[in-house]
Amino acid sequence: MLERFLDQSLDQLEKQGLKRSLKILEGPQSRRITISGRQVLNFCSNNYLGLADDRRLRQAARDSLQSQGFGAGASRLVCGNMKAHRMLEERIADFKGSEDCMVFSTGYMANVGIISSLFDREDIVFSDKLNHASIVDGILLSRARFKRYPHKNTSVLERFLKESSGFKKKVIITDSVFSMDGDMAPLPAIVRLAREYDAIVMIDEAHAMGVLGKGGRGAAEYFGLEKQIDIQMGTLSKAAGAFGAYCCGSSKLISFLANRARSFIYTTGMPPAICEASIKALEIIKEQPQLRQRLWDNANAMREGLKSLGFNTLESETPIIPVVVNDASLAVQFSQRLFDEGVFVQAIRPPTVPQNAARLRVTLMASHLETDIEFALEQFKKTGRELCLL
Ligand code: PMP
Repeated sequence: MLERFLDQSLDQLEKQGLKRSLKILEGPQSRRITISGRQVLNFCSNNYLGLADDRRLRQAARDSLQSQGFGAGASRLVCGNMKAHRMLEERIADFKGSEDCMVFSTGYMANVGIISSLFDREDIVFSDKLNHASIVDGILLSRARFKRYPHKNTSVLERFLKESSGFKKKVIITDSVFSMDGDMAPLPAIVRLAREYDAIVMIDEAHAMGVLGKGGRGAAEYFGLEKQIDIQMGTLSKAAGAFGAYCCGSSKLISFLANRARSFIYTTGMPPAICEASIKALEIIKEQPQLRQRLWDNANAMREGLKSLGFNTLESETPIIPVVVNDASLAVQFSQRLFDEGVFVQAIRPPTVPQNAARLRVTLMASHLETDIEFALEQFKKTGRELCLL
């Protein structure tokens, strides 16, 4: 019975051009990577600042392994709460200027844990239609009333807020940078609405932390709203080049999560070496704004290049640049041809993006060279013409 179900499901995915498979990287995550014995330029990593294989992070992890061993051995509320965990939380709180911070093992677990613990059947959640899957799953798990507003549409959001009465709590949740479109949430308008309609605001800074704001503290810093956003979640797995996630907010919020967030309570603490590597990454993010500058220079050059070739990059305004081709099979073909030419850009298909909105998702890193971008643009032009996309 299981075999038949699996055969049918996989066949169907194959026919729709939606079957996914895993590619294996044969070395560290960096600007040039080796996959199936082929060296390619990497334009699809979230390693925005190039820290994933940074020697300082490696050293920090190595030192921690030597002194602390590898595993935390228990959940943090039992006996797995090591100094490195708390030190990382204190450093993040200090970096973000928040009262306190809690570290989760992944961004997915953070969103699921935060949302499902704070909200329940008596509450209503307003969520941007393009929010990350982990936010959607957190809302579903919370059983709160789930209202999705059209992408960045604050007029509809306002109408929804106006219409919602009789709920205990109202919350607006949004990615601050949208992971597949590379545009930003209208945070000033959202915060204004939240004040007017007495709603809580939660943002997911996964793609903004280390990337946006003078100090790299994310979109909240970029818009000057750090003190006005109640719940600021972000990850350590992207610009910080490490692993895990954080939630910043008031001490009461963090204390509540320690008591209620099931994805924090019922899981083993992160290996301390990851915490130490993340602490090192935070120092680099703070002390080396030039990395962020390089990232933005690279992103702007790539975006301008793709646009002037005639590709549809939607409203991208960050180092995430979609190249929309609509058809899922065409996106896969485009990605494969670019790969054959030495440029790795992953195809993103439904359900990660809406139906008929398949795309290549180009992401830039501080470590890309000008010549990498020039080469990639040449291949985009050649391949795009071959596939009649230009
Ligand atoms: N939120 C957003 C917006 C993301 O893009 C991601 C990762 N793709 C996550 C949360 C989950 O983070 P993690 O990979 O650390 O689980």
